Amino acid sequence: MTNKKLTRNILIGMALGIIVGLIFHPFADGYWVKTYISGGVLHLVGQIFLTLMKMLVVPLVFVSIVCGASNVADPKSLGRIGGKTIILYVCTTAIAITLAIVVSLLFQVGKGANISTENLSFHAAPAQSFLETILNLFTANPINSLAEGHLLQIIIFALLFGIAINFAKEAGTRIKNWFDDINEVIMSLVSIIIALTPYGVFALIAKLVITTDLDKFVYVLGYFFTVLIVLFIHLFITNGILVGILARLNPITFFKKMLRVQLFAFSTASSNATLPVTLETAEKEIGINNKVASFTIPLGATINMDGTAIMQGVATVFIAHIYNIDLSLGAYLMVILTATLSSIGTAGVPGIGLITLTLVLTQVGLPIEGIALIIGIDRILDMVRTAVNVTGDVSVTAVVANSEKQIDRDIYYQ
Ligand code: ASP
Repeated sequence: MTNKKLTRNILIGMALGIIVGLIFHPFADGYWVKTYISGGVLHLVGQIFLTLMKMLVVPLVFVSIVCGASNVADPKSLGRIGGKTIILYVCTTAIAITLAIVVSLLFQVGKGANISTENLSFHAAPAQSFLETILNLFTANPINSLAEGHLLQIIIFALLFGIAINFAKEAGTRIKNWFDDINEVIMSLVSIIIALTPYGVFALIAKLVITTDLDKFVYVLGYFFTVLIVLFIHLFITNGILVGILARLNPITFFKKMLRVQLFAFSTASSNATLPVTLETAEKEIGINNKVASFTIPLGATINMDGTAIMQGVATVFIAHIYNIDLSLGAYLMVILTATLSSIGTAGVPGIGLITLTLVLTQVGLPIEGIALIIGIDRILDMVRTAVNVTGDVSVTAVVANSEKQIDRDIYYQ
């Protein structure tokens, strides 16, 4: 199936999902719908699809990074690519959250809202400290990391393995050829499973529409729309500048090519589950060499979360306003720092942003119970911010690839 056709079918799947969801929404609590529709067929199809996508992530990331790293003859250039990528990921996340704070303060989001904060309760899951994040990059048991899907540990092990292949002369060449073949096979497996996306997306969206309680929106509309507006500003303006000016590519073509990845991220709310599609698009549609993309895209799925940072910026201002707490400039800088750093160690899975939000709120002395106010509508925002997260991964990758002359413009303008 051509990519255009697939994107069209995903959109059709989404639209049908919304229609079917709306039809069954009034009966959401009925036994029949709960057992056979939302909790039955739709749940089954959605979960099988998600599981198949997740099945690809570990082998894909490992094999693709080994191939990428073993194709770089000079390990120094890997260090250079890594350095540029991490700096850009961190800077774009900091820009995203700064934008979110400025816009929320301008809109005075949450000021004067008469939301009762009594009886709120939110149980926070513990978030990692920065030191732990650094330590957790390394693994004593790579098999365990692969089995448990610790992406950052897998990335580091695969990079070292790939570099070692370069130094292992003839044996290295044999292993490299073997990995190149496996990589081809895995990429074709990715294409087979991606072809199922329209059905998976249909089931995920239909179930979501049936089970989402729309009444909760009214209270937090200001927050909801502020997050959305900043997400869109960042999506098009910041990413547009990265792609158009720094990567010297036509941004309109970029957004067209990214639509499929964004729809996928939107439906799954997980950058990790989207990884196979992101990687395939970066290499085959944008034309970024595997040497760069194989490493920067999986890295981005874990450490680069611009959309998540935006939600956290708006949520901080919103919660401060609701509780009538004035935050100083220093506190806002603390928010920017904590949100940027905490996104580094967290995996791109649904709802993780709310967990790291507890860290941000605690840093500046805001009550984490405030999260209870926004939790009800978080899933929808999670979907949109995940689309922004994955777009950021590809734009930064494009900038880095351009600076290394690793973009095939013929593929891009095909
Ligand atoms: N769902 C987001 C992602 O996977 C993370 C989050 O914001 O919760 O990128």
